[in-house]
Amino acid sequence: MSEAASGSYVSGCLFCRIVSGEVPGEVLMRTEEVVAFRDINPQAPLHALVVPVRHIPDAASVAPGDADVLAGMLIAARQVAEDSGLASGGYRLVMNIGQDAGNTVDHLHLHVLAGRRLAWPPG
Ligand code: AMP
Ligand code: ZN
Repeated sequence: MSEAASGSYVSGCLFCRIVSGEVPGEVLMRTEEVVAFRDINPQAPLHALVVPVRHIPDAASVAPGDADVLAGMLIAARQVAEDSGLASGGYRLVMNIGQDAGNTVDHLHLHVLAGRRLAWPPG
């Protein structure tokens, strides 16, 4: 993917590298603005991550101009859940921000979890 297409590639960022194809990922779907791939350490039968192609550090960094990208992430999450055949039982969308929430990768990502009963409140 060209620098222009990726918008704001950050070379030290794992998810920028998965988006660009430098680091392999099991990509489930891709649009101009978002990419969905399987989490390497799945916590449910379906555990995908939906990320913006353009590097945004986290959900707390989102600005009004990112509205279309955020909508694209939600639409991609629904598609990934439906394509897995597990959406009818329900699914959970999660964005972790900061240490206490367990955020480990500083590129905005939406977890899509489905296929088992998920506890609430979360641990
Ligand atoms: P978070 O803890 O919310 O920052 O989520 C980061 C997620 O990225 C974790 O669920 C990891 O299992 C996942 N992850 C880390 N490295 C990779 C990778 N190379 N490919 C796919 N998922 C990854
Ligand atoms: Zn990035």
